Amino acid sequence: MESPEGQKMLEFRRSLPAYKERDALLNAISQNQVVVVSGETGCGKTTQLPQYILESEIEAARGASCSIICTQPRRISAMAVSERVAAERGEKLGESVGYKVRLEGMKGRDTRLLFCTTGILLRRLLVDRDLRGVSHVIVDEIHERGMNEDFLLIVLKDLLPRRPELRLILMSATLNAELFSSYYGGAPTIHIPGFTYPVRAHFLENILEMSGYRLTPYNQIDDYGQEKMWKMQKQAQSFKKRKSQLTSAVEDVLEDADFRGCSLRTRESLSCWNPDSIGFNLIEHVLCHIVRKERPGAVLVFMTGWDDINSLKGQLQAHPLLGDPSKVLLLACHGSMPSSEQRLIFEKPEDGVRKIVLATNMAETSITINDVVFVVDCGKAKETSYDALNNTPCLLPSWISKAAARQRRGRAGRVQPGECYHLYPKCVYDTFADYQLPELLRTPLQSLCLQIKSLELGGITEFLSRALQPPELLSVQNAVEYLKIIGALDENENLTVLGCNLSMLPVEPKLGKMLILGAIFNCLDPIMTVVAGLSVRDPFLMPFDKKDLAETAKAQFAGQEYSDHIAVIRAYEGWKEAEREQSGYEYCWKNFLSAQTLKAIHSLRKQFFYLLKDAGLVDQNVENCNKWSHDEHLVRAVICAGLFPGICSVVNKEKSIAMKTMEDGQVLLHSNSVNAEVPKVPYPWLVFNEKVKVNAVFLRDSTGVSDSILLLFGGNISRGGLDGHLKMLGGYLEFFMKPALAVMYLSVKRELEELIQR
Ligand code: ADP
Ligand code: MG
Repeated sequence: MESPEGQKMLEFRRSLPAYKERDALLNAISQNQVVVVSGETGCGKTTQLPQYILESEIEAARGASCSIICTQPRRISAMAVSERVAAERGEKLGESVGYKVRLEGMKGRDTRLLFCTTGILLRRLLVDRDLRGVSHVIVDEIHERGMNEDFLLIVLKDLLPRRPELRLILMSATLNAELFSSYYGGAPTIHIPGFTYPVRAHFLENILEMSGYRLTPYNQIDDYGQEKMWKMQKQAQSFKKRKSQLTSAVEDVLEDADFRGCSLRTRESLSCWNPDSIGFNLIEHVLCHIVRKERPGAVLVFMTGWDDINSLKGQLQAHPLLGDPSKVLLLACHGSMPSSEQRLIFEKPEDGVRKIVLATNMAETSITINDVVFVVDCGKAKETSYDALNNTPCLLPSWISKAAARQRRGRAGRVQPGECYHLYPKCVYDTFADYQLPELLRTPLQSLCLQIKSLELGGITEFLSRALQPPELLSVQNAVEYLKIIGALDENENLTVLGCNLSMLPVEPKLGKMLILGAIFNCLDPIMTVVAGLSVRDPFLMPFDKKDLAETAKAQFAGQEYSDHIAVIRAYEGWKEAEREQSGYEYCWKNFLSAQTLKAIHSLRKQFFYLLKDAGLVDQNVENCNKWSHDEHLVRAVICAGLFPGICSVVNKEKSIAMKTMEDGQVLLHSNSVNAEVPKVPYPWLVFNEKVKVNAVFLRDSTGVSDSILLLFGGNISRGGLDGHLKMLGGYLEFFMKPALAVMYLSVKRELEELIQR
């Protein structure tokens, strides 16, 4: 690299803390099979260490034979990092550096360093159990304790003795490196001493005081002479008092017209430190303060998720100051955004323009935005948890851990001393857990169990018991039972042909099953749309302030079908039609649809098609695969077959609908569902993809199905404890379970239906 730009890049690389440890790192790696590397975020672990290895392999004349794989928990970081590393090397992506994520990649014949998602490496293990030809595996961000990473660690532990020359490097941002080191029998740990500037933390109290509000100081009780019980009571009292003080203070601040003429939603502003939602107004207020009063520097706002980011972005865009593009560059950063938008995040804005990035917790560790000086932390992250007893996944914004809050704060001190605004009181921070629970202990394990079987890793329970922190037995049993119900495993826990096919598809087992049945029943197009929609997200937007209009728009698509899934099919079809006439955007605008999501669905559909074709599941004569696509009866049936046993019975009461699922008893329909508004659902059953426990159990999406469809396309429901009606049907089901028989059903469905109705 002779060019001045190349020289500058080289200097930059040498200025990173990791550079000082280069030799120590390479030495340790050459002498040990497993090495744990820890270091402050931004010190150069992800971008530098893999390059050091590549460079040293080239120096040792092994450049052509080495193959370094570096896994990332998220696709966006795999893409961003590979692009960065290629740029640092003065190359194009796909030369020596490449990336591969689900359904996408850039990788050439000479690629020696591959950044991929952890899922991709697991997939590779399917066809290449010993990772032949791989010289180094680097597992990044292990401190996050993602499910895939924890899983990979078990697999690699088994693999290492078979591949003595393979090198494994584990990289972690925080200092719990000993945990990983001891899991690998005391592997050496190298810490990269970091450099960050001090960051001043402002908690809600300080923020309010900055705004001229005096609060009596929080009574820290640390008198060790007192009884513990008494202390706790005292603390609780003090907390309560504090809470009511803060409540009124926040209210006051936001009601103070002088303070900022922002619109007021008192309930919402209060919720700024209620774990269920975040106070947008408070965020707006803090951002205004920064833009008006503070020194230059980018702002990073941590939000809980994509929908929050979108609604906040909408609100800020309408603001006279924050929405002014000559003063503020407003960007969003989350896992599912397109890569074109991604790049903007790293770029410097024009002089006088302040960059504000609204991000999910992804920006905590995996990507580094250099010019951040201010961090606004809402204190929450959407965390999946799993209620094994009720077999229900929960997705709730919940308080982050102390480690995460520290990490968020640290993001402000990359280039100069920074400021962090924590939008919650210090006393709430004090109640945070030290670390977050590993994902393996808080998610349903179906996909994972399927993977264990398809990788032939032995008995599921035994395998998972060897994890860093093994999941509850009940969670494992639930997952295995589920896989048996959908027919992916047989009674002896062996993979069935269906299970084998499902493990090759990069979607959840039930969605994979739906795709396969869509192909078998020749109604592939609509089914691909449904599956893509369910694995990306709902394309229907439900803006807070226009919910009624949005609901009406969605209801129009559903028509008399009583199906959120069919509404998506129709919305997508309509959008494609509009795109052909160059009016896609107007169409989306008018119908409250997200063009971005529809585009994502569109490209995912294409990928599904090729995957199914490769797997030999699509009819040779491609036209055939849509022969029955217009038969909505059949489409409904395939949706039912895929989503089963996600089913609830409908009891129409006068005004509301009472519903029961097998496990939960009474459930409610999410207000975004088209069936929530319909007074009378003329179907005895609803199938659903997702139920979430918030305060009650909600079904997010649903499709009405008749007895006959359930009978022929559902599985064996006599297992569950539903009412007598279902038990009787269960008897028939045993007989009709095979899809092949359902083909027969198609030809005689009228007669059959009449028969059942009698
Ligand atoms: P770590 O993995 O230790 O958190 P990284 O290797 O990701 O650190 O980043 C090292 C440094 O490289 C960061 O501090 C940042 O300055 C720079 N960097 C990383 N990615 C980019 C990017 N896409 N654009 C510009 N600079 C980047
Ligand atoms: Mg990193």
